Amino acid sequence: MLHVNERGGIALDQSIFYATGGGQPGDNGNMTLANGSSIAIATTVYGVDRNQIVHVAQEGAHLPAIGEQVELTLNWARRYGMMRVHTALHLMCALVPFPVTGGQISPDGGRLDFDIDNPDAIDKDTLSAGLEELVRADHLISQRWITDAELEANPGLVRTMSVKPPMGSGRVRLIAIGEDGAIDLQPCGGTHVASTAEIGNIAITKIEKKGKNNRRIRLALLEEQVS
Ligand SMILES: [Zn+2]
Repeated sequence: MLHVNERGGIALDQSIFYATGGGQPGDNGNMTLANGSSIAIATTVYGVDRNQIVHVAQEGAHLPAIGEQVELTLNWARRYGMMRVHTALHLMCALVPFPVTGGQISPDGGRLDFDIDNPDAIDKDTLSAGLEELVRADHLISQRWITDAELEANPGLVRTMSVKPPMGSGRVRLIAIGEDGAIDLQPCGGTHVASTAEIGNIAITKIEKKGKNNRRIRLALLEEQVS
């Protein structure tokens, strides 16, 4: 353990927890202290300079001492839901090729807002079928790094106006779905599954009108079918 900030935020030298960013909430779970007791971690955020991941202990928790060895246990069911939903939102981007103006992710569903030229042409059932097809095709998801300069030279890679890609460290991670990003390719710092089949059963649940051209498109994970 490296240090505790004034609000009980615990910084470690390494972490498996995802810190809130890009419309995706931070991970929660447990931290086991050196004496074997365990404290609940309510959420995870970035420190002021984004270089540090800060684990926020539940209020009143007994905090570890500097230098103490601790072990993190991720709330995996929640995180895996986030990974499936987040990856499905990339597929939504692929099916709705318009600028993204906002978004939100939860473990069982998510949404993106788009500025669409001809919004009346967007149909819930057609989109659902398109998603289903991309999931069934089991496209691989891979990552590669490019420099900030390469990203600046290819502004078309940036799909979202609301979440700026995490630049400043000199390099940016590109997430590619399908061979050479044939399905979707964009800079992203979030968490993804390894291939689209892992997303499982999913559907577009609602398309809401937020403005003349703006539409909020929601998707949700459906209950697993036992086959
Ligand atoms: Zn992503």
